Amino acid sequence: MPRALVIGAGIAGPATALFLTRAGWDVEVFEAADSPDPYGGLFLNVATNGLAVLAQLGLRERLLTDAHRASRMVMLSGTGRTLGEVPNGPARDLERGSVIVRRAWLHQVIREAATAAGIPFRSGARLASIEETPTSVHARFADGSTAEGDILIGADGIHSLTRRWIDPSAPVPRYSGLVGTGGIARIDGLQATPDAQHFVFGARSFFGYLVRHDGTAYWFANLTMPEPPRGSLTGVSSAEWLIELRDLHSDDPSPVPQILAGTDEELTGYPIYHLAGVRSWSRGRVVAVGDAVHAASPSSGQGASLALEDAITLARCLRDRPDRATAFADYQAVRAPRAEAVVRYARRIDAQKRVTKSRLGIAIRDWMMPRFLKNAADDTRNDWLYNHEIPWERPVEGAAAKQPQTGG
Ligand SMILES: Cc1cc2nc3c(=O)[nH]c(=O)nc-3n(C[C@H](O)[C@H](O)[C@H](O)COP(=O)(O)OP(=O)(O)OC[C@H]3O[C@@H](n4cnc5c(N)ncnc54)[C@H](O)[C@@H]3O)c2cc1C
Repeated sequence: MPRALVIGAGIAGPATALFLTRAGWDVEVFEAADSPDPYGGLFLNVATNGLAVLAQLGLRERLLTDAHRASRMVMLSGTGRTLGEVPNGPARDLERGSVIVRRAWLHQVIREAATAAGIPFRSGARLASIEETPTSVHARFADGSTAEGDILIGADGIHSLTRRWIDPSAPVPRYSGLVGTGGIARIDGLQATPDAQHFVFGARSFFGYLVRHDGTAYWFANLTMPEPPRGSLTGVSSAEWLIELRDLHSDDPSPVPQILAGTDEELTGYPIYHLAGVRSWSRGRVVAVGDAVHAASPSSGQGASLALEDAITLARCLRDRPDRATAFADYQAVRAPRAEAVVRYARRIDAQKRVTKSRLGIAIRDWMMPRFLKNAADDTRNDWLYNHEIPWERPVEGAAAKQPQTGG
């Protein structure tokens, strides 16, 4: 049985392991951290297309047992005026819309399934170097241990070592101009926001929230600021974040100040990056998936879903192609145009989120947006994001017959 070493137990890693096991591979997953996600206390959007991949793993319904449906995105001005709505899923099909879940829950659902499938995980295994021989690939970990496989799959996230091994001149992530933070808080007296996320173009910072039926608020803020030096945000305490956020959002419409007043949990700040233009997704026996080769900022709501799409696509290519090189080449040929289109989409949204100090700029945006979003309920412009199905059972098509992409 061919053996695959998967580096990284975020989203792409365990999902790839599950699909590959189905395709007859022996797989082991290696994770640097003891707990796989440093942002485990936060939440994310799993889009219709990501849910479709989870359905093929039999995990969609389980994920939905603790998910908030968010098939609409409502935009508000800094004065609380509704600027318009955008579907967070295929237009005119809200039932298939995207959901918001706790990141830790998504990890748990995928990870438990992988463990149940007999896939071994090694925590505290930080990949330090890769060495390839004519017959195998060797991973060396920071603790001195090693592992050997026929292929190595880098699912090691946006600061991927695998990407650099594949191509030392690969592009590095580019800062978006935004720093994110957020949390989950139980606050009395908040009105539920069924089926919708709300986004506020605050005067001094961008804010997003939803309120579940039990009054739990899921919220985030995106602060416009120069790129913080790597690691510097870890020195900012939760109390300092809250002072800053309460000040930045003090003039914003209800319930933004109430959410921040009622928040008292640990806050983490994270600079938001994009990664695009990675020319080589594989070299020899090594290939990469997910944020390691393309990262769309959280604004797209697509990072996790793209990682899931990569997982199923790579496994299908390895199942259906006659050799490794063709499988890796076809995997990239099929996936890269779509991933790049999503990153471009995310960049456009990030540009809108960055705070403008120009009163004229704000006035123009608040005038334009309602006109631009007038027919949002029927807006099919983003259907290319959501109506993207990758059937596991169907043989992988020729790379030349790529799946359709748009999105500029
Ligand atoms: C705060 C935040 C909010 C987000 N919101 C959304 C959203 O709403 N919707 C959405 O779709 N996406 C969102 N994203 C993006 C999404 O989280 C990523 O796109 C997704 O997690 C990518 O999955 P991945 O498996 O490729 O990488 P990751 O989930 O980053 O996993 C990489 C794993 O590799 C491990 N690793 C790294 N280096 C090594 C090494 N050398 N050796 C071993 N292991 C290693 C890491 O510890 C990590 O566990 C958000 C991201 C952040 C940070």
